[in-house]
Amino acid sequence: MCRRKTTRLWPVWTVAWITSHRTWRAKSWSPARPQVLTVKPTDERADAVVIGAGPAGLAAGIRLAQAGLSTVVQERHWLWGGLNSFYKLGGRTYDVGLHALTNAAPKSARKLPLPRVMRQLRIPLEALELGDQLGSCTVFPEVSLDFSNDFEQLANEVRVKFPTSSEAFDELARELAASPHDVRGGPVSTRQELLRRLRDELLVDLLLHPLLWYGSPTPNDMAWSLFVVLWKSIYEEGFARPRGGVRPLLKLLTRRLKAAGGTLRLRSGVQEVLHGNGQTEGVVLDDGTVVRAPLVLSSAGLVETLGMLGDDGQQHARKKSVGPMTFVESCTHLKQSAPSLGFNKTITFWNNSPRGIYAPSTPEPFDARSGVLCIPENYAGQDSEPEGILRMTVLSQAAAWEGLEESHYAMQKEAAYQASLAAVAQFAPDPSPHVVARDVFTPRTITHFTSKLGGAVYGVSAKVPHDAAKIAGLHIIGTDNGFLGIVGALVGGAGVAALAAAGAQPQGQGAAP
Ligand SMILES: Cc1cc2nc3c(=O)[nH]c(=O)nc-3n(C[C@H](O)[C@H](O)[C@H](O)COP(=O)(O)OP(=O)(O)OC[C@H]3O[C@@H](n4cnc5c(N)ncnc54)[C@H](O)[C@@H]3O)c2cc1C
Repeated sequence: MCRRKTTRLWPVWTVAWITSHRTWRAKSWSPARPQVLTVKPTDERADAVVIGAGPAGLAAGIRLAQAGLSTVVQERHWLWGGLNSFYKLGGRTYDVGLHALTNAAPKSARKLPLPRVMRQLRIPLEALELGDQLGSCTVFPEVSLDFSNDFEQLANEVRVKFPTSSEAFDELARELAASPHDVRGGPVSTRQELLRRLRDELLVDLLLHPLLWYGSPTPNDMAWSLFVVLWKSIYEEGFARPRGGVRPLLKLLTRRLKAAGGTLRLRSGVQEVLHGNGQTEGVVLDDGTVVRAPLVLSSAGLVETLGMLGDDGQQHARKKSVGPMTFVESCTHLKQSAPSLGFNKTITFWNNSPRGIYAPSTPEPFDARSGVLCIPENYAGQDSEPEGILRMTVLSQAAAWEGLEESHYAMQKEAAYQASLAAVAQFAPDPSPHVVARDVFTPRTITHFTSKLGGAVYGVSAKVPHDAAKIAGLHIIGTDNGFLGIVGALVGGAGVAALAAAGAQPQGQGAAP
């Protein structure tokens, strides 16, 4: 591995031209001449290329650059942030996502994921100015469970509302509190395991609902290892929000990348990963530029990355399917602050039918019987804004949106939005009379702006080790490597980058957030 303190990318056209020129002189005109013409003066060399400037890619880029490797982060979109980016529309700024930063642990909890990854990235945790959630809840037609960053609140709710299961719940909670984040194996079906322990289907539905919504790539259930991570990230450590939302977090990451000597290139997607003899050789960008590098870390997704490997990779990719879980998300601006209208929870995980639903909305383009309502104002320490904000997420499925012609597409978006408002009005004040502006994202929007096939927010169902592509120097990072959500993606990207930079042997699958 070539280690340099300087991080400037250098064009290789000079070397290539000299080599070709010598070949031409030594041999004959005809074989050498095409080589000279095909070498583009823009070809470059780097120690590492990172595909994608979402949280995993930015964290990986920082870690590689900090290790002294010349690193370039290639992003196809014109903005960074990936699935959690931001944009302006009609004079208003919208965040694509950010309901919550999970793993809201205090700085003193040095070993927990968020403080640890911020230390690794050399960004002070205080710079995020995190504000804790005021309180969230899961609402079913007959019963609700409140929870906050104080785990005791959830435990008390279970004691009062499910007294016959409360002892088993306390035992489960103790066991999980003592468990590390990265347990391996365990029961295949968390739902079955929880039913066996708690013996109450409704309680299992209620407890699983927020965890499914905030990280499960599979419908209605999840692997035990993922459940442990999500339980700890959401119920034990809790939700927080950087003051100002996702933009300050992304600013800190991009500044840190630059300070460490890394380069971020926007509107500069990767179309092909070059490899030969089982070793990564670099990438070809959308404009045809070749960046030669022995290390490529991809946050584009497993199937998407395999698809960049030429014929063999594409065959391999065809055998894998992209994950089924995708959503319709909307962001609404209200005439006045949401709490002043009676929205007093931070996040509400709703389910307007007797049993918990978390599955693609087949055959419909959306299903608002189950969803998430987030009120960003209901975090401590946020600046007051003239307009209130309300985020709603409902179930969807990608295929139903594909191929819709524009007017029908717009109609379905509007229908999904109205259904979301109506669903919220069943357990909270009706937001409709207070709406001043809104934007709606569908699976099609997600694919358009992040190149994630099928708009799969939580990636492939079966997570893979970072070396799953089986090509030395090519690493899968982020969601499909099993690191979900913003904090998970930061942890995963930083961890794999450290391994790659150290030239360590692949270690296999990591833990999620
Ligand atoms: C609406 C919404 C709300 C969310 N809210 C939250 C939340 O509140 N809290 C939370 O923790 N998580 C949330 N998430 C999930 C979170 O955003 C993701 O888990 C996280 O962004 C995954 O990070 P990543 O870096 O692995 O991938 P991504 O964020 O998807 O980043 C991948 C990047 O790679 C780029 N890319 C893809 N292909 C190429 C290519 N060929 N060349 C160059 N670039 C390429 C994409 O454009 C993208 O920028 C939300 C997701 C959505 C969709």
